[in-house]
Amino acid sequence: MEAVLESCLSLSEKIPAAEICQGASKAVCVGRNFVAHAKELSNPVPEAPVLFTKAPNCFVPFAPQLVLPKGLGECHHELELVFIVGQRLSAQSLATEFDANLSQGAALAAMSGLALGLDLTLRDVQSELKRKALPWTRAKNFDGAAPVTDGLRLANGSGLGDLNDLHMQLLVNDEVRQLGHLRDLIFDLDRLVAEIVAFMTLEPGDLIFTGTPAGVGPLCEGDNLVVTLWHGASASDGANAQLLVESRASVV
Ligand code: ZN
Repeated sequence: MEAVLESCLSLSEKIPAAEICQGASKAVCVGRNFVAHAKELSNPVPEAPVLFTKAPNCFVPFAPQLVLPKGLGECHHELELVFIVGQRLSAQSLATEFDANLSQGAALAAMSGLALGLDLTLRDVQSELKRKALPWTRAKNFDGAAPVTDGLRLANGSGLGDLNDLHMQLLVNDEVRQLGHLRDLIFDLDRLVAEIVAFMTLEPGDLIFTGTPAGVGPLCEGDNLVVTLWHGASASDGANAQLLVESRASVV
């Protein structure tokens, strides 16, 4: 995989995680964007995206260490593909620059990069908040709640190929915990951008967390994590798989 990574990076410049973290005024996140994940938490499959935001205090580099809140119950990993917004996107700009229905690929052209992120979630806190029908802020917006990896810079989405051929994986202590295929998204990037921008302007540098596949679970002190994003026609590592992002972190 090393040689493949080098050839890929020569096509796309790397963006340091710290730069991604500093450049974002907010992240807009999607809950329940994979059917299997909605079901594992006994949630209905939504007809419109469930959206929430994360504030800048959440953004930290994923590597080399993750610091979790103590004494607040289980903190779950949610591996997600993260897009970095490349230009101001408002309802007005959408109406003038894009088709009303955001044709396939139009949203990708407005993204300046991509990375992997964890939408860290205090699950016990969230379950209690959900039970009381209260906002999720305490469960989703604590300091460090959105670690992001180094990213890849995109020029008008070029060089990435079909988003449906992206695959991401989280290993915890060498065990596959989450494996997601972007073709399984309920709401694709075009639909997400259209839905978000209809009520909230996206600024350059803002992040879009596109939702987590099934397999969420608690992280523990001492866990070793490896996250991987690759492009390939099939989910398995075939000869044609192109490694895009790989990063390692340990939980302290
Ligand atoms: Zn999430």
